[in-house]
Amino acid sequence: MIDALTLSSIPESAQALRPAVRAFLDEALRGRPMDRLARSWMGFDAEFSRALAARGWVGMTLPQAYGGGGKDAFHRFVLAEELLCRGAPVSAHWIADRQSGPLILKYGTAAQRDFFLPRICKAEAFFCIGMSEPQSGSDLAGLRTRATRTADGWLLKGQKLWTTNAHRAHYMIALVRSSGAPEDRHQGLSQMIVDLSLPGITVRTIGDLTGDQHFNEVFFDDVLLPQDALIGEEGAGWAQVTAELAFERSGPERIYGSMLLFDAWLQHLRSRSDPTPAELALAGRILAQLVPLREMSAALTAKLAQGDSPVIEAALVKDLGTELEQAIPNLLADALAADPLAERPEDLLRTLSYVLQVCPTFSLRGGTREILRGVIARGLGLR
Ligand SMILES: Cc1cc2nc3c(=O)[nH]c(=O)nc-3n(C[C@H](O)[C@H](O)[C@H](O)COP(=O)(O)OP(=O)(O)OC[C@H]3O[C@@H](n4cnc5c(N)ncnc54)[C@H](O)[C@@H]3O)c2cc1C
Repeated sequence: MIDALTLSSIPESAQALRPAVRAFLDEALRGRPMDRLARSWMGFDAEFSRALAARGWVGMTLPQAYGGGGKDAFHRFVLAEELLCRGAPVSAHWIADRQSGPLILKYGTAAQRDFFLPRICKAEAFFCIGMSEPQSGSDLAGLRTRATRTADGWLLKGQKLWTTNAHRAHYMIALVRSSGAPEDRHQGLSQMIVDLSLPGITVRTIGDLTGDQHFNEVFFDDVLLPQDALIGEEGAGWAQVTAELAFERSGPERIYGSMLLFDAWLQHLRSRSDPTPAELALAGRILAQLVPLREMSAALTAKLAQGDSPVIEAALVKDLGTELEQAIPNLLADALAADPLAERPEDLLRTLSYVLQVCPTFSLRGGTREILRGVIARGLGLR
C-alpha cells in the first residue's frame, strides 16, 4: 500500500529503512490472525517490543548516549508507517517511544534522563498517560488529582480514568494539581512520573465493546512519591502537556487505524477477476483522501524534526485523519454488503467486525473531535 503512494518529502536515508523492517515483520508476524493484527497500536506484546528494541527500533529519535538511535523524526515516521500498515502489536512501548521519552529528554533532570531513557530504548520501561479523570476529560484543566509537597517528596491523592495500559505499564506520567484549586485552571498543574508499583495505587481494568481490556481506572490513595517524581518545572504542567500533545496527535497512527482492513479489502478485490466500477471508485476515493493526509503528517514530522511544536497543525491532521479512519470500515461494510450472495473471506469479515466496533474510539482518544476543532479555531484566531 505505502509503496503505491510516493512521498517525495521523506529523505532517502529514512526510506532506506523499509526493507529491513519489512523483512523483520514478515518473520515476526507470520501466522498471526488478521483480526488480531488489526489492533496494531492497541495490540500489546512486550516480547515483540523487545525484539524491535534489540534492532534499535525503539527510541530511534533519542540520543545515542542514552541507547537511542540518534535519528531524525523521519526515520520514526517511516518505521511507524511500516509497523502500523502491517498491524504490528506495538502498544507496549508506543507511548514511551512517542511521547514519554521525548518529554523526559526535554524536561527531565540529568538523573531522570540517565535512569529512564536507556530503559525506554531497551523496551524495559513502558509508560502510560495519566491525564483524563472522571469529571475531566475534555475539560482537562479542571482535574482534581493532587500532589502535595511533604518533607521527603509528594503525597498523591486522586483518580485517573481511561488510562491505556496502566495495568501493564511500569510508569505513568500524570498531570496533577500541585497548588491552587481546580478553578485556577492552567495554573498550578505539574507532571509527575509515577512508579505504578508503589503502595496505595490500585488499577482496575475496564473492558471495551470488543471484549479487549486496554484501558483502566487508576486510584491513588495517599501514595508517597519521591522528590524527583516531579518532571520539569512545578506549576508548568499545562505548557509541558500541550507540547506533548503535538507528539501524541501528529503521528501516522492517526491515519492508519483502518489500514490493515483497507489493505485486506484491496487484496480481496485483486483476487477477483471482476471488481465492479463502484468498488474501484471507492478504492480511488479512499486513496485520494489518504495521500494528502499522509503528506500533511509528513509535513508535521518535518516541523517536529526542526524542533517546532506544531500543536494546532497536529490537531488538524488528527481530526481529518480520524474522520477517514472511521469512514473506511463503514464504506467497506456497505461495499461488502452490496452483493449479499458474493463470497467474502472470513478473516476479512472478522477484521471488518472488529474495526467497526472499535472505530468510534478513534475520535475520542487523544482529544475529541469537538475539542480539536476548538483548538484549530482558536489557533486561526476565530474564537
Ligand atoms: C480508546 C481510548 C483510550 C484512551 N486512553 C487514554 C489514556 O491513556 N490516558 C488518558 O488520560 N485518557 C485516555 N482516554 C480518554 C480520552 O482522552 C477522553 O475520553 C477524551 O478526552 C474525552 O473525555 P471524556 O471521555 O471525559 O468525555 P467528555 O469530555 O465528557 O465529552 C463528552 C462529549 O462532549 C463533547 N464536549 C465536551 N466538552 C465540549 C466543549 N467544550 N465543546 C464542544 N463539545 C464538547 C466531547 O467532544 C464529547 O463528544 C482514552 C479514551 C479512549 C476512547
